Amino acid sequence: MLNKKTLEKFRVAPGKKFRLKDIDPNWRGDGATKNLSNAELKISAQKELEENLQELAEQQAKLYAHDRWSVLIVLQAMDAAGKDGMVKHVTSGLNPQGCDVYSFKAPSAEELDHSYLWRIMRVSPARGKITIFNRSHYEEVLVVKVHPEYLKRQKLPEPLITKKIWEERYEDINNFERHLARNGTVILKFFLHVSKEEQKKRFLERLEDPEKHWKFSAQDLNERQYWSDYMRAYEEALAATSTKWAPWYVIPADNKAMARVLVSNILARAIDDLKLKFPVVTGEEKLALEEAHKRLQAE
Ligand code: ATP
Ligand code: MG
Repeated sequence: MLNKKTLEKFRVAPGKKFRLKDIDPNWRGDGATKNLSNAELKISAQKELEENLQELAEQQAKLYAHDRWSVLIVLQAMDAAGKDGMVKHVTSGLNPQGCDVYSFKAPSAEELDHSYLWRIMRVSPARGKITIFNRSHYEEVLVVKVHPEYLKRQKLPEPLITKKIWEERYEDINNFERHLARNGTVILKFFLHVSKEEQKKRFLERLEDPEKHWKFSAQDLNERQYWSDYMRAYEEALAATSTKWAPWYVIPADNKAMARVLVSNILARAIDDLKLKFPVVTGEEKLALEEAHKRLQAE
């Protein structure tokens, strides 16, 4: 397992100045792994990932049995940063009954008829569960900020669309997340930080490999033109919304295996920090269990 200090490096400290360029998307570990070849690094990371996933499965079993806390994971990233692969790997060892995944696309007409948190709130995690948001309410201060015309489509009353709207959204998001946290949801937010060069490489792979053609969308190429606007929007949003109760982690994502190691590690630790135990039965329930045991044996 990575040590806590290493993980701290990727957490955006609440209320502090923060620069995205201080985090290298191609981070390859602090120790011996730094000098490994790509292939060697992949093998080493995969081994570590398996260990993390095993630990996570144990933690999830306790979370589910305990049935009080829940966990919300928010995944945000540019296209081709590996959100889908992250969901696939992180959930691979989990009990499907205790895990939900939701993807948020451009809002529907019905969704636009409500506040932007409406569609989020209704699928926030139930007690005992781990819920993953593949994109989230943060699109409201990212894609919508980069493309102000999307804001116009939101049917907001004109006087409410002011220069302060982004600050207001950060504030509302923080309060919303605080509300969830105060009611037993552990919130972890991950920005998969991929470099512009790596995105180009992955788009080219999608274009050159027939089995990946389906993944390519011309729209993704359009969004790439707004790269620096997105980076600015991410930097501002992460600085304004990384809180004690819902921290952001910037996860280096040029190396998919390393990114998965980091996320699975942070997640397993966060549940471990709750110090959950399997529920123990009380005296009366114990008697009932003994009774049931006797009855079955007598059959
Ligand atoms: P993949 O491409 O891997 O299937 P994706 O998350 O990129 O996953 P798409 O259907 O390609 O899924 O894209 C969803 C689009 O919806 C993204 O461009 C995202 O920015 C956009 N979107 C999500 N929420 C909002 C929102 N609130 N307002 C406007 N656009 C949004
Ligand atoms: Mg897409």
